[in-house]
Amino acid sequence: QDGLSLAIQRVPFGEDLEMLLARDITQLERLDAMRRDFVANVSHELKTPLTVVNGFVETLLDAGDEIGPADRQRYLGMALDQSLRMQHLIEDLLTLSALQAGSEPDEDEPVNVQALLGTVLHEAQVLSGGRHQISLDPGTPASLLGSQKELHSAFSNLASNAVRYTPEGGNIHLRWGVKEDGGAEFAVEDSGIGIGAEHIGRLTERFYRVDRGRSRETGGTGLGLAIVKHILTRHQAHLDVRSEPGKGSCFTARFSAKRLLLRAQS
Ligand code: ADP
Repeated sequence: QDGLSLAIQRVPFGEDLEMLLARDITQLERLDAMRRDFVANVSHELKTPLTVVNGFVETLLDAGDEIGPADRQRYLGMALDQSLRMQHLIEDLLTLSALQAGSEPDEDEPVNVQALLGTVLHEAQVLSGGRHQISLDPGTPASLLGSQKELHSAFSNLASNAVRYTPEGGNIHLRWGVKEDGGAEFAVEDSGIGIGAEHIGRLTERFYRVDRGRSRETGGTGLGLAIVKHILTRHQAHLDVRSEPGKGSCFTARFSAKRLLLRAQS
């Protein structure tokens, strides 16, 4: 009888184990597929600009003295654009891989939010080149406990997306606010092209783009929001996205009270 009860006990255990193994294998297969997709994406993203650079260099070499100085300058300028694009992509990849490797975060320090917002506003204005109305509501003076470098990167990624996806003449509003529950939020609102509801859940995936052509045209790598999400997660914050196609978008980073230090108003 002992043998029988043991067998009965074992059956569900055996099945559970099989199920666990099957689940682990599916998980591994999924991870492997994701890794392959990622490598394919990176290769493709690098190959396109590299092909263009090679084309220009070959043309210049073949043409020798036959090419006029104006055309030479133009080809070299276009080759440089593509080369900068590759550099930008590699920098983003390195940033993302350091974040994903769970490398030790920089020592937390109080980051002066208003000073950071001033820098982010200035960078957005430079990128816009006067093509948008950009405003800032600096809100309650506060510091966030975290990494200056990472918070800067997250905030400026959101602001630069607003500039890149808002047509000339549009409005961009940067806003900081302390909430009643003691938390705080940084929001970037734009009157740009907006995003369809079906895309919103996937925006922070690596290389996910709503419109590949537009992202490229404006110098995008498809990694910006993946980087933002990792940085915010490290700061126990999360990203909320609201958007309407043709009307505009609002990206909000919400921080918990644990990360917030209020500064006396001066
Ligand atoms: P990219 O380098 O392509 O801009 P991101 O990861 O920063 O990559 O953003 C992913 C995609 O989300 C973009 O390709 C774009 O389609 C969409 N997106 C991001 N920000 C905005 C915005 N403010 N307005 C409209 N679309 C946006």
